[in-house]
Parts: sequence; structure tokens; C-alpha cells
Amino acid sequence: MSVPVSQMWTVASYVVRQKAARRKRYPLVLMLEPLFRCNLACAGCGKIQYPAHILKRQLTPEECYKAVDECGAPMVSIPGGEPLMHPEIDKIVEGLIARKKYIYLCSNALLLKEKIHLFKPSKYLTFSIHLDGEREHHDLSVCREGGYEIAAEGIREALKRGFRVTTNTTLFDGADAKSVRAFFDEMMQLGVEGMMLSPGYSYEKAPDQQHFLGRARTRKLFRAILSNRKKSWRFNQSMLFLEFLMGKRHYTCTPWGMPTYNIFGWQRPCYLLQDGYADTFAELIAETEWANYGTESGNPKCANCMVHSGYEASAVNETFGSLRGFVDTVKATLFNRYPDAGASRLLDEMSSPEHAGALVQIEAQSLEETRA
Ligand code: SF4
Repeated sequence: MSVPVSQMWTVASYVVRQKAARRKRYPLVLMLEPLFRCNLACAGCGKIQYPAHILKRQLTPEECYKAVDECGAPMVSIPGGEPLMHPEIDKIVEGLIARKKYIYLCSNALLLKEKIHLFKPSKYLTFSIHLDGEREHHDLSVCREGGYEIAAEGIREALKRGFRVTTNTTLFDGADAKSVRAFFDEMMQLGVEGMMLSPGYSYEKAPDQQHFLGRARTRKLFRAILSNRKKSWRFNQSMLFLEFLMGKRHYTCTPWGMPTYNIFGWQRPCYLLQDGYADTFAELIAETEWANYGTESGNPKCANCMVHSGYEASAVNETFGSLRGFVDTVKATLFNRYPDAGASRLLDEMSSPEHAGALVQIEAQSLEETRA
């Protein structure tokens, strides 16, 4: 795992303090969406489908600081939209660094080279660059030819200037598992600090509804990709969450672990669903019917979900909330390469001509797939 010790220490001590205070629901990462505007129109994203008058709106830096202070999470992820399109993104970042928050500024990097002079390298600031695989796969995923190369150039520039840089990758059904592994090699050669992965979630508003993964297929895909792991690969996320994606662990969703704030307020219950908004973080926590969410709840909107914003906080909670979780995390980080002959066969099958490039269509998802 590539997370710096100071960041790990901040998160670990924060979790221990929450446990000592017997706080039942606490946030780990605030998902701060300062705007929905974007300079891409990815097929798997529901954010830019808002009408023009919503897309024009944005949070002010002061509104961002207020949300961050209210929430109290030690890490802030700034997705969007494309945050580099916000005219005061530098001021927002500066204010959060002053608050000693670890920031993941999630960008497609199309504007990174142009705007990088607005920022100063800091251990608190990481550019988390959206790349969905090797050149051809990424360009197809973001519906923009040349998108990969521009992002790679942005990464090189940011690294040259001494910034922390990670990648974030969303995988959809039909992803070419061998190509994803080759992409990991490419990213390590490029010199990024670490990589983050998540399966896609079936946004109701996303134009492409056919390629979202069900739970059984998610586990199969991630087992093929992440077993027989290369020593050189570094991941900037919870090792136990990756084991969850591979089907080696079971977690229930903790949507309050990564709460979302945007121009509408505090989004219920999570980054993905929009069952209304709360005016304050305290109201979000106290008045959301949390039992209605998560795979076990029977809510069909949650049935296939395994995304990081619902389940990674559950994994982090296990790491810092129990000795067993901590020991398992250390083992997973330092020693476990997940040898698995079955996964190698799976990898060959998934890359066979019948499967390759097929972007398998999930028709009406079977009950087995949904409940797996
Ligand atoms: S299961 Fe997924 S969609 Fe449902 S509440 Fe959790 S994160 Fe949100």
C-alpha cells in the first residue's frame, strides 16, 4: 500500500478516537462536489445529465469550508463534475490544506497542465486522475479520443513538479482483465504513488445502462485481475476493500462513511443515490433511515452495489477497529500476492477471442447475480 505513514496515522488515530467516543456512525472521507460541470461526457456517469441551470451552479469556497468543518472527516475527496473547471478551486484546496485535511482532487486531467501552477505540492494534496484502463479502453470509456494521452501528460507534469499523484479507475462489465493488469504496469512505470479501483455503479441517469457489473461478476472480474498480484503494483486504498471486491470478505454498506455534499446540500444516503437532502451533516446522520440502504436491506437500488463509497469505509473500520483487521491489513500489504491458479485460468477465459472486447451485455439481471 502506498499511503504515506502520516496520512495512515491521521486516519488510524481518528478512527480510534471515534471508537473511544462510542460514536456509532462517523465519516472517513467527505465527498465534496463543488460543481457538476465537466469537460467530458462519460457513458457511465450520471453527473452531467443535469439541466443547464444546475450545471452552471457551484459551491463557493466558504460553503466548502463550512461543509468540511461540519463533517470533520480527516480526508476530503473532491470529485464533480471536473473540479479544475471551478474558478476558485485553488482557494478551496488552500483552505482545506490549512485545515490539515488530506485531499484527493479527482480530475480527468484535461486541464491539469494548464492549471497546475495554481497549486503548491503538499503532503495533504493528491491529484487523483481518472483513467479507466489502457489508452483504447480509457478513450472508449470517457468517449474522448486522445483523453488517455492528455491525462498521461498531466500526470508526468504533476510528478515532475513534486505533487502526489494517484489514479482512480472504474471497471465495467466486459472489462478486459489482462489489459487492466497491463494498465497497472503502465501506471507504475509512469511513477504514480498508487492506484484506486472501484466497480461502476448503475446510475439511473447514466446514458449507458448495459455495462454495469452485478455482484457475482464483480467478484469474478476482480479475482481475475487482483490475484497473482505483481509485487510492483501499489494501491492507494484499503487492502481489505480489494479483498472484498475479490470475494474474500463480506462487508455491509456504511454509506455515512463517505458522505456527499454538493449544491443541493447533504445527499441522502450516499454518493450514488439521491433520496433527498439534509441541510446539515448532523441532520443527515440523525434523520436518514439507514436501515433502508445496503445490499442486505432489500433495496433494489443497492442490490448490485459494491462501490468504494459504500464499502471502503467498512473495510477501513475493520482495519483500525480490530486487531484481526489490522493484522490482516499488514499481511495483505506486505506479503500477500494472492496466488490463485483458478484466477489465472479465469484471466485466460476472460481474454479469449469470444470474450475479448465483447463488453458483455447484462440483460435483465438474474436473481442469482443480484443476490450473490
Ligand atoms: S449499497 Fe451502494 S447505493 Fe446503496 S447505500 Fe450503499 S453505497 Fe449507496
